[in-house]
Amino acid sequence: MSLHLRYAAISDRGVVRQGNQDSVFAGPHFIAVADGMGGMAAGDLASAIVINTVARLDVPPPADSVVDELADAVADANRAIRRQVADDPQKEGMGTTLTALWFDGEWFNLVHIGDSRAYRLREGGFEQITVDDTYVQMLVDEGRITAEEAERHPQRSLLLRALGAAEVEPAFQTIKGVPGDRLVLCSDGLSGPVSDADIARTLQNAATPQEAAETLVQQALDAGAPDNVTVLVADVVTEDPGEQRQFIGGAAADARLAESDTAVLRAVKEAEHEGEAEGDAESEAQPKARKHGRVWRTILATFIVLALVAGGGVWWARTQYFIGVSEAGNISLFRGLPFEVAGYRLAWLDIESDRPAADAVDSVESDLESGITVDGPSAAEDEFSALVDPDAGNESLDPLCATAAGETEAVPAAAKDCRDD
Ligand code: MG
Repeated sequence: MSLHLRYAAISDRGVVRQGNQDSVFAGPHFIAVADGMGGMAAGDLASAIVINTVARLDVPPPADSVVDELADAVADANRAIRRQVADDPQKEGMGTTLTALWFDGEWFNLVHIGDSRAYRLREGGFEQITVDDTYVQMLVDEGRITAEEAERHPQRSLLLRALGAAEVEPAFQTIKGVPGDRLVLCSDGLSGPVSDADIARTLQNAATPQEAAETLVQQALDAGAPDNVTVLVADVVTEDPGEQRQFIGGAAADARLAESDTAVLRAVKEAEHEGEAEGDAESEAQPKARKHGRVWRTILATFIVLALVAGGGVWWARTQYFIGVSEAGNISLFRGLPFEVAGYRLAWLDIESDRPAADAVDSVESDLESGITVDGPSAAEDEFSALVDPDAGNESLDPLCATAAGETEAVPAAAKDCRDD
């Protein structure tokens, strides 16, 4: 018996973010969600490239080579992102998750990388069928924190794997479809603010995929939607639902990406024609690699360390920022992670101030010692500047007082009015 999908998808910018870096595709044979990341509009581009590349799979899958073709499409998408970064090193760090299902009328072939999720409701039972490629999931797997603690962990969105890295290892699964199954693909903009229990309840109560998708997005918005929210709901049905339009949404369909669209289409085209010519792509990138030799050597060294640590896994660390304390004891901005991974410290000093951490009030000083994570390079620099600038009226730091020599030095908070002397 050949089964069918009845689907609906929505991608919403959310309440806080300026743009939408998620992308979504839904068709009769193929459904996918991608959550892009990286500054300079690169996250939009990454998820749009990936969705536009893998959308070619919305055809009945071949009987004998479905996993190979799925893997090829993902490899093409990754190559297209890498090519964009080689062309424009400012896009370094751009990447995207991908969670996608290719349906043959009986079996789902699932590919997954990152923290976008697939859930299934079957006969009232609700389960997550993907495993997040995140740092907190690793801690849960190792028994170091509970699943509940992971939901509130400050590093919960830190990815261990994403498309855009030099080496990617997506997870593949084959899952049998059963009439009545209701599947959800979503970005972390849903699974972060809305609990699994609430998602399950909505799926149980909604009459149609459209109603389920609308309700879930509304629940994320009601919870403050700090991130882009993308939800795709697909029911497995026995009756042919008739002609259903392909749906493409989020960054992949965003007209505001007009300029980048050209890049998306070019990247997708090139990726499709360069499947066997990966070596060429790498050698074309070499002149730029020489030009930016120091940067690339740093990145290469980083990848080697990361490869040693987690088999190429902790790639995302290099694009994270935190404010902490330098070896000299000064407030400093770092790239990387404020904690050790498998005994390795993955932190790189970016800017060191001449302001000792000891100037900060006790609570901030202890936050600095454990590392204050910041979201993205511009927020990192803003917060760092505000924290170290004595003229910013910053209550996190004890005031500086002029000394006889005209130098400044920190004084205890009790002597706060000394600047007026
Ligand atoms: Mg997200």
